[in-house]
Amino acid sequence: MSSSQFTPEIKTVDLEAQAQEFLKTAAFTTRLDDIIAWGRKNSLWPLPYGTACCGIELMSVMGPKYDLARFGAEVVRFSPRQSDLLIVAGTITEKMAPVLVHIYQQMLDPKYVISMGACASSGGFYRAYHVLQGIDKVVPVDVYIPGCPPSPEAVLDGVMLLQKMIENHDPRPWKDSWKVPQFLTQPQS
Ligand code: SF4
Repeated sequence: MSSSQFTPEIKTVDLEAQAQEFLKTAAFTTRLDDIIAWGRKNSLWPLPYGTACCGIELMSVMGPKYDLARFGAEVVRFSPRQSDLLIVAGTITEKMAPVLVHIYQQMLDPKYVISMGACASSGGFYRAYHVLQGIDKVVPVDVYIPGCPPSPEAVLDGVMLLQKMIENHDPRPWKDSWKVPQFLTQPQS
């Protein structure tokens, strides 16, 4: 018996030709706003506004273990003009409020805001005159993430929730009716 009798038969498949054949018969339809939303939700560019311990926790979300890249949101930008997702992670004092608003105004539209942790969402345990008792006093917030600090899993959950909102075209009245807070536009006496 010759050795050639034991050679297994190798069949080659021309995947490209098959794909071309499939494309001749198949059609893919969608709505324009659906495909735009699909693109937006999978290409969020976050601006991390970390002011305290939550900022450190946010760093771990970007690292290899939790890897925010899996959700298309790893391109962290430190310029508001290149960002569409503001992640506020930490305590915001009254003095920082105008800066936060300024940054929010400079961001690209459509833009989104995640409030990460107790301090950003409500002032946390800093029940003090100089601490903003929640960033929603000055900017419109889409997703609040509870915790002190929130776990990386909770942050990922918040990002996924925002992605769901974008995909579903959820109305955002808090954003649509947002104005610069009056106390920031009045001159200080
Ligand atoms: S919520 Fe807790 S962990 Fe986050 S900034 Fe405030 S004190 Fe720090």
